[in-house]
Amino acid sequence: MINPYEFIKTKKVGDNHQSGEIHEFIESYLNNQIQDYQLSAWLMAVCFNGMNSDELNEYVNVIINSGNQLDFSHLNGFIVDKHSTGGVGDKVSLIAGPILAACNCYVPMIVGRSLAHTGGTLDKLESIDGYKGEISTNQFKKNVEKNGISIIGQNDEICPADKYIYSIRDVTSTIESYPLICASIISKKKAEGIKALILDIKVGNGAFMKTLKEAKKLGQALTKLGNSLSINSKYIISDMNEPLGFSSGLWCEVEESIMFLKNNKRESRLNKIVFQICSMALNLAGEKNSNKLIEDAISSGRAYEIFEKMVKSHDGNLKSSYNQNKYKYEYVLQANQSGYINRIDTEKIGYILLEIGGGRKTIKDKVDPSCGLYMYKKIGEYVEKNEPIIKLFGSNSNKIQQIEKMIGNVIFIEELNKNKKMTLIYE
Ligand code: URA
Repeated sequence: MINPYEFIKTKKVGDNHQSGEIHEFIESYLNNQIQDYQLSAWLMAVCFNGMNSDELNEYVNVIINSGNQLDFSHLNGFIVDKHSTGGVGDKVSLIAGPILAACNCYVPMIVGRSLAHTGGTLDKLESIDGYKGEISTNQFKKNVEKNGISIIGQNDEICPADKYIYSIRDVTSTIESYPLICASIISKKKAEGIKALILDIKVGNGAFMKTLKEAKKLGQALTKLGNSLSINSKYIISDMNEPLGFSSGLWCEVEESIMFLKNNKRESRLNKIVFQICSMALNLAGEKNSNKLIEDAISSGRAYEIFEKMVKSHDGNLKSSYNQNKYKYEYVLQANQSGYINRIDTEKIGYILLEIGGGRKTIKDKVDPSCGLYMYKKIGEYVEKNEPIIKLFGSNSNKIQQIEKMIGNVIFIEELNKNKKMTLIYE
């Protein structure tokens, strides 16, 4: 049996682990022979001293092998997924997934819940009346085979080691480590049985990565690990200096995704990111005319049909969701002067959403599915004094009444437009 004291000390002083040691340490932890406090100490040492590529490969493989791996090689279609590092209003998975499935791909997608100020795809989907996001791996596989797509949360059969380690990282300030983040994300992608992965690395004041340098480092680290596990991985770096699309929150984001898929209303920045991600995925599948395929998938109604079928297979009821998720209270923020929107404090907006019921502070908190916001204006747009800029809404009157005290300065208006060329996709 490994000596945990010596093992932790090796990483603490910046030395490398011998081959097999990480495997033994994590296996021992899973068998209750290593305690939470010993795992926490080692995770903190990794935060300070990192892992070399041999250590990272060993670590990611123990995580993958702690659970089941799906195999879709019998299907006649490209197996692909996309992953975002998180932001405010980022509903791309809800839209890009069904589009790719409508273009003959299979999309087995495992997603997360809200994290800090960023929204979680699983919480958004669960705002649909009845939607079951926590299903068995067997059912997940059947849904993918039947509809081309299934979107679920991590269950106990998929990388359980990651589930336990993540819950410790979450409460010991050990989330922010490149090797730990990469292993956590890529292990679940490998378990999905995908052949290709498009990563959307968000950068800006509403993202975890605040600078292009950090975003690039994460994109490179994630794709390197993905490729080493035979997942053809590519990344984009996209802007998160303002909420994406018209709406941010829970049910309102599902509604916006439905409008997009039905070709009723497609906000231009959201549209560009969806096309970029889908087209990169389709190019990896060997398709030449990807933009046309994507446009056809939307305009023919096929992408929406697939979304509807997926929801049904998860016991969701879209019809009753409209009524059930009607919000009761609203707060409208008006412009305090005329001018151009020059900056939006997106992280603060994300935290306000969390406070009014759109996210969780602890895993046990209940979310308010009707909660969200609507952006009337985008960066660079002109606004008249007293015109509405953001509407925030939800069904808890106490929480909505708190917005006025919390909101302070989130939108910065100036006489001159300093944002004539807002970059959307940096790389
Ligand atoms: N999402 C994950 O799944 N894992 C991390 O470590 C961070 C974000």
